[in-house]
Amino acid sequence: MKAKVLSIKIITLFPQFVENFTESFGIVKRAIKLKLLDIKAVNLRKFGLDERQTVDGRPYGGGVGMVLRPDVLLKAIQSVRKWKVKSGKLKARTVLLTPQGKKFEQKDAQRLAKYDQLVFVCGRYEGFDERVRSFVDEEISIGDYVLMGGELPALVISEAVMRLRPGILGKDESADKESFSEPMLEYPQYTKPETMRVKSGKLKVKSLRVPKVLLTGHHKNIEEWRQSEAQKRTIKRRPDLLNKN
Ligand code: SAM
Repeated sequence: MKAKVLSIKIITLFPQFVENFTESFGIVKRAIKLKLLDIKAVNLRKFGLDERQTVDGRPYGGGVGMVLRPDVLLKAIQSVRKWKVKSGKLKARTVLLTPQGKKFEQKDAQRLAKYDQLVFVCGRYEGFDERVRSFVDEEISIGDYVLMGGELPALVISEAVMRLRPGILGKDESADKESFSEPMLEYPQYTKPETMRVKSGKLKVKSLRVPKVLLTGHHKNIEEWRQSEAQKRTIKRRPDLLNKN
């Protein structure tokens, strides 16, 4: 059975972010060509008011900067939601990007990968009118820092989600055993050369070798080594993951 297309619409004042992304990466271009992915920017300016296509206003009560208008954002959201209504059974989710949202994790990527359509609403300037929160299904932050707009967060989430959809990565299982797919970091990976001589310190030359077990071709031993390394590495770097459910 052919895999379903994932439709992503990113509502933004800067469509070039999305265009650069879709035009630059081989895997994304291939997924679009194979109709596994349809990712498009929706230019918020098109929904602007008056002849100046105004999309923002000064905050009531005073304060610095400009705030995106709720009526303009609602029109933009409705313009893509029509698609949802027309196609009936479609599972769609509208996500607002905000540093005040729930912090994005791999399990959110897994959850969002089950939808057919994702609509991302990107803030800019000082953000958006509070009423916009009632037009969306959820709010996501990509971390405890403040960026200038929601475009990069929308692309971060889109990339994490799309690589979990069947057929988008070369081999379906390549996303299986990665860091965070279980509450664990991934095991260490090696490729050629088998031995590498590196100058360390002033005069010393150090040999960096691929662990012997990986060269044996003994699948069971390799699997055991990988599991044990993944566990050691998680305990050392991210013990918090082991306490998560
Ligand atoms: N004044 C807002 C506040 O303190 O919550 C921040 C506005 S920020 C300069 C402009 C926009 O960038 C936000 O509306 C949001 O869409 C996006 N943004 C910034 N940091 C983000 C983050 N960590 N995660 C998700 N979106 C973010």
